[in-house]
Amino acid sequence: MFKNILCLLVVTLIFWGSIAWAQKAELTKIKYCVDPKWAPYEAIHNKKHEGISKEYLDIISQKSPLTFQLVPTTDWHQTLEFVKTNKCHFISMLNQSPERDHFLTFSDVYFHAPNALYAHYDQPMIGNLSSITTQSIAVVLDYRLYHYLKKNFPHINVIAVNNELEGLEKVEAKEIDYYVGSYYSANKIIQDASFSKLRIVGIAELEDKLRIGVNKHSEFLLPHLNQAISKISEQDHQTVFDYFKTTNFVHKTDYTLVLGLACFFSAIFIILYVGYSRSVRFSRALASKNKKLKALHAQLDAKNKQLAELAIRDPLTMLYNRSHLAEMINQQIKLKDRYNKRSCLIMIDIDDFKQINDTLGHKVGDDILKNLSNVLIKCARNSDIVARWGGEEFVLLCPETDIDKAILLAKRFQQALQEMKSEACPNVTCSIGISELHTKDSADEWFISADNAMYQAKAQGKNSISTLGNTNKVST
Ligand code: GH3
Ligand code: MG
Ligand code: MG
Repeated sequence: MFKNILCLLVVTLIFWGSIAWAQKAELTKIKYCVDPKWAPYEAIHNKKHEGISKEYLDIISQKSPLTFQLVPTTDWHQTLEFVKTNKCHFISMLNQSPERDHFLTFSDVYFHAPNALYAHYDQPMIGNLSSITTQSIAVVLDYRLYHYLKKNFPHINVIAVNNELEGLEKVEAKEIDYYVGSYYSANKIIQDASFSKLRIVGIAELEDKLRIGVNKHSEFLLPHLNQAISKISEQDHQTVFDYFKTTNFVHKTDYTLVLGLACFFSAIFIILYVGYSRSVRFSRALASKNKKLKALHAQLDAKNKQLAELAIRDPLTMLYNRSHLAEMINQQIKLKDRYNKRSCLIMIDIDDFKQINDTLGHKVGDDILKNLSNVLIKCARNSDIVARWGGEEFVLLCPETDIDKAILLAKRFQQALQEMKSEACPNVTCSIGISELHTKDSADEWFISADNAMYQAKAQGKNSISTLGNTNKVST
């Protein structure tokens, strides 16, 4: 009998123990959802819950056997959907409304906050919602205020917006006359988004009385929640308020570094671009200068050649001058020494030129000198050097030419000279001396030999060719 009673006692203890263990397990890691974009009341940042409701949940957890686990959501609509489908047991902070009563049971109020009316500063103060007649007012869709306005102020032009920021933006842009919403969160948005044209023009009759809303499957949590809420002291409220005052719940992307880097690279780009443009301009200028310089060099070369040519030419007849002829004679002597080349000098002196000058004038004399030079050029070969020795005397240096060929050339010249008739001077004759270069002849010896031959031609009556001992008279 005693044994039976003992057994019953043990079984009862085990039964109650397991129930207590199960109940205790049920109270830990309670899943909850929040409004992810309702700072400073609550928000999700990096999948973590933060804001006023987080502070209160921590206090409630301390004052109860409950522990909580956040189920992150992307927006308020998903939060409502998750709590309805029991993906989370409760929503941490919201107002009670008849619509929400269908799927939530609410805890006691743990936080009070006013709702304010915001307008462009052009709008007058209106005091409260009752003063609005035909004007439009923005309110976030599905927020309790939305249903409240629809129900209690049916004449007001209520415009649903997706979130608080959108509502405030439209009021600042004067697209909508008023915005009504939570005083703390609206102020936070105005501050963070730097809206400068908005002001509070009244306080809505409806105050936010914020509670925890548990879904119908999780009502067993309510006694624990309410008991903990009742234990929240003034000191606890003050701690949360202090925290709320000092914390920035809105996490903006920090663009400082990005902006700094962008500025830095922009500056580098500008410097490089300016440098590149300058170097391109400089290169172009340099290329153009080089082109001009090349042209100048070419001009200079041409001028130098011209000058060099002029330096060896006689200015009146443009035949080679005496100094160039002397150079060429020396060259022929070297060739003779080395290759035993045959060459001749033909000395030509115009007959009675003084008389021509005296009777016809110096100008006609000059023309005769020029015409005779042209005749000489035509008769000579390209390889011959045709020079004006001075006054009315000319010299032909004929390389690779023996005495016979030189005589033929002299005769050809005399014939051509005969044909060079002008009205002023119908007949110009020349005395011609020819000398072939002999081995060991110096330049002077060769030249004197030709000169002597020419004087011999003069002595023999002019208008003749002499090779010192062999004179050919050409009749005129
Ligand atoms: P000859 O038949 O003996 O050679 O008699 P010539 O008159 O030709 O010789 P002469 O030496 O007495 O005179 C040469 C003349 O040539 C004198 C000079 O006025 C003339 N003369 C020399 N150089 C020039 C020149 O550049 N232009 C002109 N028009 N006459 C010149
Ligand atoms: Mg003479
Ligand atoms: Mg003469």
